[in-house]
Amino acid sequence: MKSRRTFLQHLTMSAGILPLALSQTGILQAMPKPYISQVPDGPVLKVALMGLGSYADRVAKAMQDCKRAKITGLISGTPSKLESWGAEYNVPENSRYNYENFDAIKDNPEIDAVYIITPNAQHHGQCLRVAAAGKHVICEKPMSINAKEGREMVEACEKAGVKLLIGYRMHFEANTLNAVRMRKEGELGDIRFFQGLSGFRIGDPNQWRLDKDLAGGGAMMDIGIYAINGARYMVGEEPIWVTAQEVKTDPVKFKEGVDETITFQMGFPSGAIASCLSTYNMNYLDKFFLNGEKGFVEMQPSTGYGPIKAKSHEGDITKPHVTHQTTQMDQMAAIIHDDMEPEIPVDGQEGLKDMKIIDAIMLAVSSGNKVKLDLV
Ligand code: NAD
Repeated sequence: MKSRRTFLQHLTMSAGILPLALSQTGILQAMPKPYISQVPDGPVLKVALMGLGSYADRVAKAMQDCKRAKITGLISGTPSKLESWGAEYNVPENSRYNYENFDAIKDNPEIDAVYIITPNAQHHGQCLRVAAAGKHVICEKPMSINAKEGREMVEACEKAGVKLLIGYRMHFEANTLNAVRMRKEGELGDIRFFQGLSGFRIGDPNQWRLDKDLAGGGAMMDIGIYAINGARYMVGEEPIWVTAQEVKTDPVKFKEGVDETITFQMGFPSGAIASCLSTYNMNYLDKFFLNGEKGFVEMQPSTGYGPIKAKSHEGDITKPHVTHQTTQMDQMAAIIHDDMEPEIPVDGQEGLKDMKIIDAIMLAVSSGNKVKLDLV
């Protein structure tokens, strides 16, 4: 029998039709927030971008095709960027801020949310300030550099009554969602194994990604997090233990506290296991493989900017490619303004679980022990 959650997913997810259908079945009161499958018409999410670097550039371009999200503010430490981005995206001078004065967004009705796209170690402090200004927070991954900071971010947003969403763009990607639905509907049978390979060969040794103070670590924070997060949404359970091993071939480039390559394993309550690789020293590593007793799903590339290539024991999965950040920002508008839920969560708790796992992986590396996890 299909689960109630699956049943809900298969209903037409228009904001209007779902509550009506459920009120007639008498389960409206116990109903979770509706899942988004099509973004309904509604108010536009007015977004200030913070940190105008390479990923913000990608997000800004993708947002030009959004129907529910718009760039209405800019925050940067570089005056010339505020000028050129302001002109390009039509953001007036009174909605441009620097890192010293951005608390003033609290008085700007043209900003609903701030999208934090700065180096990892800055996310925590910036999130706390945005929340204190009463604006919703969208924060890039990793949400912070450890679970303690992540927890403080969740608490600050709860206290301020604003939403905290993490920029997990794959949670909105059609081929990924198809694979997750196949698993949920039992097409793969009981899940036994997940493999996640996430890495690339990093260049310039002087970039912030290799500076522990700004990055909070190395490959794991940046790219290994995709294998961690992917293991959780592909397997559909929370891991209960991790083991991990580190290899460092270049201690000059990858200094103390900056991991180059880590292999890690996770165990899940059902007995399923995951075997993953995080690295800054190998290219062509972007692969997920999910194995069940009745079938499999393989994705390669699995988390790149797309198109994602997926196949299962039944053949190719060919959902059309849509720029990830366009879908993400439209759906985030529906999460924030319409109180809808994505099929795979993107809230602060979701980000915090990944931070707890990263903490545990680092402890497993340093201690050589199996580290238990309690995420539920
Ligand atoms: P980037 O170096 O291209 O941009 C970082 C921006 O932060 C720059 O505009 C820089 O000027 C600004 N900045 C502010 N203070 C800084 C400081 N002290 N040192 C260095 N830069 C400073 O980096 P990016 O690739 O845009 O990454 C930014 C964030 O986005 C990171 O958290 C990263 O993990 C995340 N990211 C996410 C994805 C994704 O697919 N979701 C992809 C890339 C990056």
